[in-house]
Amino acid sequence: MSGGSLSLIRKGYSLLRGMLPLSGKASLTKLVYVFSGKPFVKDDKISIEDKFPNKERGGAIFSADFEMAWAFRFTKEATDPYEFALKKARQERANLPLILKKFEEHGIPVTWATVGHLFLESCQENTHGWMKKMPHFTNRFWQFTAGDWFDHDPYSNFREAPEWYAPDLIKAIRDSRVKHEFATHTFSHIDFSDKNCPVEVADDEIKASLEAINSFGLPGPVSICFPSGSWGNVPVLKKYGITIYRRKLKEVQLAYPYYDDLGLLVTLSSDAFDRSYPSWSSCDYQKRYMKTIDKAIKTNTIAHFVFHPSMDPWMINEVLPKVLGYAAAMRSQGKLWIGTMGEISRHIRSKKSST
Ligand SMILES: [Zn+2]
Ligand SMILES: [Zn+2]
Repeated sequence: MSGGSLSLIRKGYSLLRGMLPLSGKASLTKLVYVFSGKPFVKDDKISIEDKFPNKERGGAIFSADFEMAWAFRFTKEATDPYEFALKKARQERANLPLILKKFEEHGIPVTWATVGHLFLESCQENTHGWMKKMPHFTNRFWQFTAGDWFDHDPYSNFREAPEWYAPDLIKAIRDSRVKHEFATHTFSHIDFSDKNCPVEVADDEIKASLEAINSFGLPGPVSICFPSGSWGNVPVLKKYGITIYRRKLKEVQLAYPYYDDLGLLVTLSSDAFDRSYPSWSSCDYQKRYMKTIDKAIKTNTIAHFVFHPSMDPWMINEVLPKVLGYAAAMRSQGKLWIGTMGEISRHIRSKKSST
């Protein structure tokens, strides 16, 4: 099929979707997963021998955007974004031990893309005073048109304001029986795009993240997941030793990580543990995610699953265990590699230097 007719079909599909109520959208999405080629695959020419550490046929990465109240304070979704942010943070606190347990049960590591501020035990009014100011902007999800970027910071500590700091939760992740990885999700959950984030602000955000992680006694991150679907300021990432980032594209969802123009690796997000359609049963969701794993194995790519720890607990209890169990079973059959963003980046770079 030509590119032109594909784009026409996509346009028609978007138009149809836009006219449907939520339940109609859910059924349509289900149909797309059953009958279309979704998730779409990015081809490559890399030898299967080199792709995974133990010559597995496909891979899986699970990354979490660990962000607490920082993610939602400018959301357009809620009439009171501040209250909404606190609510989400409390849900995240309640969910986190449960999530850790599920991943421990299957020995599966998570790449925790963590907002840098969460590493702090406390802060004061002038603690972030050295950082360049974020200019006002709006994007698809947020509206930051008044005040200062740090206006919501309580300048307090994790006991008094547990929605804004999380050293206790980070310790729980660090001390888990599974060796997880900490990626950065910027310091204050900023829109990192070239359009909205000046390079000086991006630089300070990564610098502050590194300082926060290092003063916690953890090594600097080699991986990043951008907040709010943004992407940009890649030279800054390179400067601070980040080697791989996650990106979401409309056209393809399954890919083996590939190099961008600056030599950083890109891992595409394949699907999210997100209960967008309440009418879907747990079985519908399980099938969808397992299909993605099967397809990664078949096409020698990586299924990269994204989740927010503040997600609906139903997803954690009813869907996640089945998907993790399936991934672990594929791993024990030698078909599936499961690891973190940093691990695959190191593996790919080691192959590059040996060739
Ligand atoms: Zn602070
Ligand atoms: Zn986020």
